[in-house]
Amino acid sequence: MLSRPRAILLDIDGCLITGDRPIARATETVTHLARHWPLRLVTNTTSRPRRQIADQLRAMGFGIDIEQIITPCALARQVLVARGEQRGVLIADGAGHEDLAWFRRTAPEEACSVLIASEAHSWRIADLAPAVKAVLGGARLYTLQENRLFRRAGELVTDLGPVAAFVAYAGRCAWENLGKPSPLLFETLAAELQVPASEVLMVGDDAEFDVAGALRAGVGQAVLLRTGKYRSGDEDGIDPRPSAVLDSIVDLPRLLPD
Ligand SMILES: [Mg+2]
Repeated sequence: MLSRPRAILLDIDGCLITGDRPIARATETVTHLARHWPLRLVTNTTSRPRRQIADQLRAMGFGIDIEQIITPCALARQVLVARGEQRGVLIADGAGHEDLAWFRRTAPEEACSVLIASEAHSWRIADLAPAVKAVLGGARLYTLQENRLFRRAGELVTDLGPVAAFVAYAGRCAWENLGKPSPLLFETLAAELQVPASEVLMVGDDAEFDVAGALRAGVGQAVLLRTGKYRSGDEDGIDPRPSAVLDSIVDLPRLLPD
């Protein structure tokens, strides 16, 4: 049994869906959980706008509102606007970026921030020069997530993390991550849900980011699912260990006290 949480955060890919299909009976489970707990779906996806993610989930039968979906873009907006840093150099391309329309692009000399929102595969190093110039001038460096690699058409390719690392190394600065497992993400979500992070439950298929990272960031309990990217023994390679390991999201309600 888990302790009764005051709010639940669910990963999307590999937890509720795999590819373009829902995990068996996940829709009913989400409906059940949403009836009893404040619920947010938390994803590190940066390649698709939030509206598209919401449409896809609704088409699969998940009864969720777009406001319940938390993407790194949504968090970036909250955090940067609250800090008055929603202006500067944006590294973005592709379809992401109706969700970044609030960010005002400026010359590097006038930047308050640099926001890394693309894995920049078609960019040249010279295209990153404005970002480096901005951080050298004192702009704060943010990245939508700091994953090292992702799989595209069967090949492992670099994700946003290496782009952030490139700019940070050249500019001799640190970066703030806005995706899982950023403490900034979990703290902001807990504040919005008006519960302490220690009473939040996170559920996902990524042992490092959804489980160990969430627990290290102050989330009270984290459950690892043996679906999606889970590989046998993942729970043994992480510290802290998961609060529980389940075969599927469908098994979660049985572990939760009424
Ligand atoms: Mg996942």
